[in-house]
Amino acid sequence: MSRNGYGILYVIAGPSGAGKTTLAHHLVETGGNISFSVSATTRKPRTGETHGTDYLFMTRDEFLELEKTGWFLETALVHGHLYGTPAGLVRDRLSTGESIVLDIDVQGAMQVRKAFPGAVLVFILPPSPEVLRRRLVDRGTDSGGEIEARMREAASETRWAGIFDYFVLNDSIEDAKARLDSIVGSLAVSLDRIPFPEGMRELDPETYAGRDYWKGKKVVVTAGPTREMIDDVRFISNRSSGIMGYSLAMAFRDAGSRVTLVSGPCGALLPPAAVKLVRVDSAGDLEAALAGAMTGTDLLAMVAAVSDYRPGSRHGGKLDRSGGGFDLRLEPTDDILRNISGTGSGSRFLAFALEYGPGADERALAKMSGKGADAVFLNLGGIEGSGMESPFNSGVLIFPDGSRAEVPPGSKRFVAEAIVAALGRRFRRDDGADG
Ligand code: 5GP
Repeated sequence: MSRNGYGILYVIAGPSGAGKTTLAHHLVETGGNISFSVSATTRKPRTGETHGTDYLFMTRDEFLELEKTGWFLETALVHGHLYGTPAGLVRDRLSTGESIVLDIDVQGAMQVRKAFPGAVLVFILPPSPEVLRRRLVDRGTDSGGEIEARMREAASETRWAGIFDYFVLNDSIEDAKARLDSIVGSLAVSLDRIPFPEGMRELDPETYAGRDYWKGKKVVVTAGPTREMIDDVRFISNRSSGIMGYSLAMAFRDAGSRVTLVSGPCGALLPPAAVKLVRVDSAGDLEAALAGAMTGTDLLAMVAAVSDYRPGSRHGGKLDRSGGGFDLRLEPTDDILRNISGTGSGSRFLAFALEYGPGADERALAKMSGKGADAVFLNLGGIEGSGMESPFNSGVLIFPDGSRAEVPPGSKRFVAEAIVAALGRRFRRDDGADG
């Protein structure tokens, strides 16, 4: 894991007796920079267990008091006792690049999925109900009645296996460890998951150097489409997946900026960790959210595909087709970037332009000066498999003096890195020239 990156939060869950604790320990012992999170519990310590190592043992009142203050990332009632994962510790360690493994129950895993969408959830599956029952009997810690209760729990936990990313069949512990290793190994080199590899930056500084400029800066990124409602169900919008804005927010974050992401409706996109997310719906919402977020901002990257038009009026409920057709009058929405850049906020502005055909550069330049932006990223429309609603992108950054920084085609993740770096190189020069 690079020194600039965030660690991965692993969640190991599955039926009691499936072997999850052994496998969680295996991750810590062999997985590189991975450590355990010590949970809090209201159950009594067993022989040999120590406070602070196995669990933070506490009374029910202490637990509930901490829960009220938002101290836990997730909590669950398991076998009549409360269990919870301390949130602060997990966040702190992840932010220094350390990975964490949680050995928790399925209720907890579901809460982690919501609070930490980037977490990697691994479900440990016993080879068969018979083997699970035998393991529970051999463990010798439970009575016959308790074993049947655990078998019923195993069924209800397995019902939720669909929320997990991976499953590991634990038929033999050595094979199960190898399966887990292959998951960790592939995540460690997945360009989607890890911070941008330092080696690529060093090998191609012309494209990827310059992000240091962003350390400690405040950046606001807008992403996704906006929706302008016709009635309570139908809307006018733009084609936009939001991936470019989300990728840019992550690239600025990884460069050390404090990032606010103002996002239109982006369907299934997961909120990036350690980025302040503000959700909006319409162009009007977006403008209002920005008005509140711009104080002290060094850069506003306006990636959102804001709808240029909205219906002149909005119908309540759902328009009924049997009423026949109707005329829809559209009125233009505000030019948000122009409005904000005109307020002398002290921020720099990055505009995005999508242009088709010849003269695209000139139109992008005109758009940049019209909006008072300090740079524009020009997407060429009509390139198969690139741009709108695609995971890939390509384009060129253009600055007010007409100078250009080509951004090589790649996943939006790579394009975002190149944009952050190119802006950093340019603004550092400009700051030097000003100072
Ligand atoms: P035990 O008391 O036997 O150590 O753990 C009982 C169950 O509670 C296990 O399934 C374990 O994974 C789960 N558990 C332990 N700590 C936590 C926690 O912090 N949160 C949740 N949700 N479950 C936990």
